[in-house]
Amino acid sequence: MVVAACLMATTLTTTAQTRVVAHRGYWDAPGAAQNSIRSLIKADSIGCWGSEFDVWMSLDGTLFVNHDATINGVEIQSSRARDIKQQRLSNGEFIPTLREYLFAGIPLKTQLVLELKEHRDVHQEAKAVKKILKMVRKMGLENRMTYITFSLPALIEFIKWAPAGTEVYYLDGDLSPAKLKHIGAAGLDYSLRAMKQHFDWFEAAKREGVKVNVWTVNNEDDMRWCIENGADFITTNAPLRLQQLLANP
Ligand code: MG
Repeated sequence: MVVAACLMATTLTTTAQTRVVAHRGYWDAPGAAQNSIRSLIKADSIGCWGSEFDVWMSLDGTLFVNHDATINGVEIQSSRARDIKQQRLSNGEFIPTLREYLFAGIPLKTQLVLELKEHRDVHQEAKAVKKILKMVRKMGLENRMTYITFSLPALIEFIKWAPAGTEVYYLDGDLSPAKLKHIGAAGLDYSLRAMKQHFDWFEAAKREGVKVNVWTVNNEDDMRWCIENGADFITTNAPLRLQQLLANP
């Protein structure tokens, strides 16, 4: 009986702590599309703790929000901004520049979880990191940002140049919590598959004092598994489902 009560208390505690991050915004909402400004606004409107989005830099240095390397056949990292700007998302919005996207985020409450995509040229990535940080500072959004990336060089650049206290997470699934702490990352933001392979990293992260985000967790069993293992954040395409589960464990 005592054991059961303790287990229940633990579950409730961890449940209360897990935060919901909408993957590419809440794009499943009416009129939205992945990484659209509408998906960011919708994620905020349903009270997601954070909303994730992907960033590429054009050849001439303009930052765009898009998941894939290409949009309608135009590759962002090797194209000029004027050729990218005319491209539309599936909901009819033009592809947002990062500036437009962040501007839309100013009046919102949701954390802006910015993923810098892995570019072919690490110098282009380093330039992107500096541009992002400068833009964020000018827009007064420094306290609203979380940075994530698969690129180890970009991770190191963010850690080096972002203001103290900014959380930077690594996505690629191959570094231990101890290693990430050593680098100065806030923690791991790993796939469900990586976390199932390295189940002990939940405990190791707690020991090291770094946080765990798991992506992209869409079904209830997997959500429960992450919550029960004390995930700090879950990134999901189904934010409403996760919110309901957290409210009624
Ligand atoms: Mg992403």
